[in-house]
Amino acid sequence: MTSTADTEALLRNDLDAYWMPFTANRAFKQSPRLLAYAEDMHYYSPEGRAIIDGSAGVWCANAGHCRASIVEAIRAQAGELLFPPPFQFGHPKAFALASRIAALAPGDLDHVFFTNSGSEAVDTALKIALAYHNLRGEGARQRLVGRERGYHGMGFGGMAVGGIGANRKLFGSLLAGVDHLPSTYDRAKQAFTKGEPEWGAHRADELERIAGLHDASTIAAVIVEPMAGSTGVLPPPVGYLERLRSICDKYDILLIFDEVTCGFGRLGHAFAAERYGVLPDMITFAKGVTSGTVPLGGVIVRQPIYETFMDGPEHAIELLHGYTCSGHPLACAAGLAALDLYGKEDLFARALRLEPLWGDAVHGLKGLPNVLDIRNAGLSAAIDLWAKPGAPGKRGFDAMDRAFHKFDLLLRSVGDTLILTPPLIVSEAQIGEIVEKTARAIKAVA
Ligand code: PLP
Repeated sequence: MTSTADTEALLRNDLDAYWMPFTANRAFKQSPRLLAYAEDMHYYSPEGRAIIDGSAGVWCANAGHCRASIVEAIRAQAGELLFPPPFQFGHPKAFALASRIAALAPGDLDHVFFTNSGSEAVDTALKIALAYHNLRGEGARQRLVGRERGYHGMGFGGMAVGGIGANRKLFGSLLAGVDHLPSTYDRAKQAFTKGEPEWGAHRADELERIAGLHDASTIAAVIVEPMAGSTGVLPPPVGYLERLRSICDKYDILLIFDEVTCGFGRLGHAFAAERYGVLPDMITFAKGVTSGTVPLGGVIVRQPIYETFMDGPEHAIELLHGYTCSGHPLACAAGLAALDLYGKEDLFARALRLEPLWGDAVHGLKGLPNVLDIRNAGLSAAIDLWAKPGAPGKRGFDAMDRAFHKFDLLLRSVGDTLILTPPLIVSEAQIGEIVEKTARAIKAVA
């Protein structure tokens, strides 16, 4: 038998070896937030404490947790086929899932390239953009344009076009030839807007300035999240995306929507492109495609881009790019089952239907101590808190930690911003519960 002290030492050792991603490791290991199992709207701690999920994990579990049909599809696939090589060979579910995703995507976004994550999806899209222009004899188009406060994952390409200073500053010069649009957010003009703000469409015109500075003929692509998610739910100003589209069209610049957080129902549609009525040239996705159950990402590409590659001798590989686990059978089985569930329960429309109630509920937090702004769109929301003097990020971190330990709520904090993105199966009563627990967390760190 081991003593309590031995058990504690063992636990400490166990926690020590794992270098956790995007985590304050030392704080976590002092006071772990462990999740042992989950069902529908709840996680459970190892002791069995139910914690309501206010963030679909990390914008992932749109259908809720451990849904029986997805679990069963994964189980069945595990007994059938686990590793067919994805290079020069294929398995039926990858083709089936690509067809289903293409059918969900608007316009002629008809071809799907699979990756294992959002970061890989973004780097893939950027590479397709560069290669596409090269193949058309426009090899001078090598510049990429991102946006301040954009998040596009942690690959070198995604970091380079990403617009979060803290994520970039330790990692050298990243890619050459990258420029950034300004963020669409201005608190003085937009604070406490419900949904898309009226102010800010003109910020798209900065693309004209960038095109003038570098010469438009050197720009390959612009990548934006239609609604910036990770830096705190910044819905696009009314008319902004249309303006970006028309400037891209004017100069033959490809427009990429990074829908890793927006896609699969978060904004009440399969893709934000549909909500905003703007057709990009490529869409990147991940997370919700399998409801976060098995890693999968990808890029959806418009027909003419795909066709540009389908040239040359037929035995030759058209795009020298891919990942060993691209379109893994477990991920494809999970993706097909998730799409079935989204359809059967009409979850995207449900998110849209709940949006007004959700928006009213989260905006009810206005007036609580330190609340500087609240934003929402679809079933997502963010609350900016006033930073503690000299300790940026501390109030947000404490609120997240208290929410978990004291109020049985899982929410995300990014700096001093709290982010709420519940599974799309959330009930009206659970929306009330999530918002009420968030209020308690905000008050607890006042
Ligand atoms: N793009 C966006 C818009 C994201 O929000 C994220 C992750 O949050 C990524 C890309 C990176 O995805 P992953 O963490 O799966 O690599």
